Amino acid sequence: MRQIEIVGMRKDRDLKIVITIIILAIISIIVCVGLILYNRYNRAESVETVAGLEDPSNQNSAMVGSDEDGKKENVDELEDDSESEQEEGIGENKNDEKAQEFIDKINNIYNGEEGKRVFLTFDDGPTQEVTPHILDILDKYNIKATFFVLGNRVEMNPDLLKREYESGHYIANHGYSHKYSKIYKSATSVLSEYNKTEKAIQEALGNPNYSSNLFRFPGGSHGGPYEKIKKKARTTLNENGIAYLDWSALTYDAEGADTKKEILSNLKKTINGWDNVVILMHDSADKQITYETLEDVIKYLQGEGYAFKNIYDLI
Ligand SMILES: [Zn+2]
Repeated sequence: MRQIEIVGMRKDRDLKIVITIIILAIISIIVCVGLILYNRYNRAESVETVAGLEDPSNQNSAMVGSDEDGKKENVDELEDDSESEQEEGIGENKNDEKAQEFIDKINNIYNGEEGKRVFLTFDDGPTQEVTPHILDILDKYNIKATFFVLGNRVEMNPDLLKREYESGHYIANHGYSHKYSKIYKSATSVLSEYNKTEKAIQEALGNPNYSSNLFRFPGGSHGGPYEKIKKKARTTLNENGIAYLDWSALTYDAEGADTKKEILSNLKKTINGWDNVVILMHDSADKQITYETLEDVIKYLQGEGYAFKNIYDLI
């Protein structure tokens, strides 16, 4: 009996030892797996940090407007850049956030609450005939404006574009051809005209990192015979990190207003007492009226208590 008891006790003890060993083994495995996962997570985080630091857009886009957000994606898409997937993926997420922030700011341009502010914008340039006069007047009043330039004009007048940029004006994108039948062939052709113009701007500035991220649809972003294409293009642009901006007031300088009186009365009518105003004017070659009346326009706006802003003030 006693022998049987002793054998039974030994068996119990052996079983306890085996169970303890199994438990210890399980704990070791859990600890090992935990360590491996922890290490992997840390490595991923450090890649993200490095990617963030390497992208100059994360540091100074607000100062020079040259963030690569949308542009980088567009270029990647068109040229099938073969960066490693992991790094590109991480970079895209960061850029997506910044691009969305910019789009939101542009979309909220009419909701500013810091008093009366006006954005002067000039489309269709730069041209030798008109742009230098406009720049002289803006310099005289120390006003920073926004130029929605055409790619083909930029290629003809790179020095003027450089002058606009160096004077602190914001360079934005108005497409390449300004031919509705061409640019509004499809949403893709809108994007490719945007990209072509961005390239022209980069070349004129000698800065491959410049990216405006801001487009103005020729003829406006909504309505007209191309509304269907425009609708698709609005989505395509935003998906590529590009904002678009129309205007809320205009002088009708492109619609035949040719006296100071007409320009000013059109302006007053379309401003309509609003606090946040984006004014459309043109610096295409035949718009002498625009610079001839610009000082009066400025004085009128000053008299109404507007502060002059450009896109840099938003970012
Ligand atoms: Zn235009």
